[in-house]
Amino acid sequence: MKYKLNGQISEIIFSSLQTTQLFCGENIFVIADVVISKHFPHLFADLEESLHYFEAKEKHKDFDHLRQILDKMQKANVNRQTEIIALGGGITTDLAAFAASIFKRGCRLILVPTTLLGMVDAAIGGKTGFNYAGVKNIIGSFYPAEKIIIDVEFLKTLSEQELQAGMVEIVKMSFLPNSNLSQLLAERVSVEEIIKEAIRNKIAVCVNDMEDRNSRRLLNLGHTFAHILEAASDYAISHGNAVSIGIRAAARYSLKKGFIQINQFSEIKKRLDRYALPQTFPNRYIKAIQKKGISLILQDKKADDRINLVLFKNNSELFLHTADDITEILQVLQGFADET
Ligand code: NAD
Repeated sequence: MKYKLNGQISEIIFSSLQTTQLFCGENIFVIADVVISKHFPHLFADLEESLHYFEAKEKHKDFDHLRQILDKMQKANVNRQTEIIALGGGITTDLAAFAASIFKRGCRLILVPTTLLGMVDAAIGGKTGFNYAGVKNIIGSFYPAEKIIIDVEFLKTLSEQELQAGMVEIVKMSFLPNSNLSQLLAERVSVEEIIKEAIRNKIAVCVNDMEDRNSRRLLNLGHTFAHILEAASDYAISHGNAVSIGIRAAARYSLKKGFIQINQFSEIKKRLDRYALPQTFPNRYIKAIQKKGISLILQDKKADDRINLVLFKNNSELFLHTADDITEILQVLQGFADET
């Protein structure tokens, strides 16, 4: 599968890393999640100074860890022809790809996503970046990889929670225009087929809008609500859980505004429930939602001068909506607090 973003062709290859020649090139530099080196040690033989291990934590997606990668690249005499290979989940590929995009004004880049979320989302579409001054992904670049290599073997060692985080994104993409994901999931096709369709869906909205100005924004379904939940809980509520609740909140808000009917609302809810995706968050975060929610929305609004939401209309079709009532948005979200 190939796609073109801003003139750069990216090739997506489904392959088994048992047989590939990935690590045999002479001029390579690998940035790998240390967890992968434990689960798949055979991949790391003979790499020596061309290898940088990275501990994939969200708080490590920062300037200090970027500097460590750049230092190592400099010591290893990386040049513009070096293939930078990023091996890991979205945290690793986002940071490594950013390093590749700026070192010597851009090196060759190969991504090998090892999480479900990485395979269907983070490694696709050319966004790179890291967190700065407490703000997620505030520094970054658009730098599509030459190749994205997907080996579903990696999913065998992934935790239930991480698999679910990927599943939330897949179900989210099932609401995109012309997606066949819902049907394929119902037919119980192979995980590889599901990943391929999710990638096609993501590419379809990115290909004419790499820089997030129009159709790509549909991928933010549930994200305004999720952003508030993550911040209100100091990231104790994971991104995957928050997006699942965020999609539910977007559906309820759409119903409240009369954009969808109750039967369409039930269909959306049913689709999330079918994969047992999170429904509620702990009640104790309600106060923080009030406090942080308003400032977060105002912060976003200041940046964009509007409150942008992705909502449902008609046959669960997605559209971009500009909202004006912060209190109403927060009220809808608070309706998903549990009894604890
Ligand atoms: P991740 O990279 O943190 O990986 C999740 C956890 O799984 C980590 O502890 C990691 O060590 C472990 N792990 C990775 N692969 C494994 C494997 N095969 N077996 C066992 N454990 C494994 O998380 P993620 O969910 O892949 O990515 C989240 C990040 O992706 C966020 O920082 C987010 O901002 C970013 N993201 C980027 C884009 C984009 O377009 N660039 C899109 C979505 C998300």
